[in-house]
Amino acid sequence: MWEISKSFNFCYGHRVWTQELNKEFSLDSQCKCRHLHGHEATVDVTLRSNELDKSGMVTDFKHLNWLKQWLDDYVDHKFIMDKNDPLFTTMFKPNRDDVSLIPIDGNGYVFEMQNKIESSLAEYYEGFFIVDFPPTSENLSKWIYEFTKTKMKPLCEVSSVTWHETPKSVSVYNGESE
Ligand code: ZN
Repeated sequence: MWEISKSFNFCYGHRVWTQELNKEFSLDSQCKCRHLHGHEATVDVTLRSNELDKSGMVTDFKHLNWLKQWLDDYVDHKFIMDKNDPLFTTMFKPNRDDVSLIPIDGNGYVFEMQNKIESSLAEYYEGFFIVDFPPTSENLSKWIYEFTKTKMKPLCEVSSVTWHETPKSVSVYNGESE
């Protein structure tokens, strides 16, 4: 069994509106993760195979270039927002006829705007990536795992995805055991 890993770096914002603390362990009750804030993330994608291809590889590292492009296009310098967040309708006026939420590849949504929208408002809306789960590092690592597993299936298995929210705070999703 071989495993190979590739890392991706990008910046993102989020708000963990579901955060609750047990003061006995956290030592304070400040739910700072509920504030709008950002991180410089590193995500490691680990691929595995029982045998090597004819090049002597699990698969070429370049076969993850599509993920680099996707992360650059949709996640880098974006605010990842849960559509179930109680602030969602405060931050985005519901029922605007010049802005609509459209699903995109990768289990998320972006705002699509009509040409007539003013440019600063367009910059506001294009700065968001909308998901259907609270954007904890645990959920984000699973999200990238599921997305990558489906895409890489013709080439190899995905072993795990590690989401480094900070250098000291990390979530690893190992997938379902088969
Ligand atoms: Zn955070």
